[in-house]
Amino acid sequence: MGERTRSFSDPDTLFELVRSDTPVWDDGFKMGEPTGEVVCEGCGASAAAPEYINHDKDCSQRDVTSEWYDELH
Ligand SMILES: [Zn+2]
Repeated sequence: MGERTRSFSDPDTLFELVRSDTPVWDDGFKMGEPTGEVVCEGCGASAAAPEYINHDKDCSQRDVTSEWYDELH
């Protein structure tokens, strides 16, 4: 501890929360509602949480933790 981890709000981390583009009766999420899926804009990989993202070997965001994500939930 002590060292501040990079977070979602830092300008050098780029993640996109996937929002539903289908009606609620289709996937359980309303239009525009976050599905819980997150996409790394560094390499395009996606997962249910940043810690599950399988980044490319040379992705600059491999070290970004899910702490910001945990704070959102
Ligand atoms: Zn990545």
